[in-house]
Amino acid sequence: MRATDLRYRGEKAKFELALRMIGHEARTGTIRYFTGLSDDRIRKLYTSYFKYGDAPVRRRRGRSPTQIGPLIKTPLRALESGVFVNLLLANGLLTSDPTQAPKLQGNIELGHKFCECYETYCALVPRANLSFEWGWNLLLSLRRGDELGIERCDKCSLGYIVDLLAVPHSGCPACATFAPISNRRSAKEEVLA
Ligand SMILES: [Zn+2]
Repeated sequence: MRATDLRYRGEKAKFELALRMIGHEARTGTIRYFTGLSDDRIRKLYTSYFKYGDAPVRRRRGRSPTQIGPLIKTPLRALESGVFVNLLLANGLLTSDPTQAPKLQGNIELGHKFCECYETYCALVPRANLSFEWGWNLLLSLRRGDELGIERCDKCSLGYIVDLLAVPHSGCPACATFAPISNRRSAKEEVLA
């Protein structure tokens, strides 16, 4: 294959990923991180394809969210975040050993996989709370490993996320949410034990 063909294919792959991410209202910085495209080219793509379409896409400005509190504020939120985390693990964006985690920057293939995870999450969770950018924040927080960690419940085997700085760690959100009323008390005591 000629060098120009290769370059063309590389550029096309970047544009396709950028368009997919713009469709999810990703921020420019996140699109730049995965595709390596300049802010100016991303802005032009947005204007050409989305701004004046039948269903205009909102362009989010500024930085991606970085707080972790809202991701696990309630057991239901934690359950939702857990669904997304399990998809990230299954698709190789997260690894149980953080030193083995694949490089994400400029990685078109993993950018598409991240989009797939988000699309699957939206299909699985009715009235999903996580936006694309909150999902991205969740992935980055877990890869940093200094605030959020993954635990597995001994009772129901669910993988869920915990605030590593909270003492004690919160319990399994599924067991806390779906325990019969008579067991709620003991479930709560377990969490606080
Ligand atoms: Zn459980």
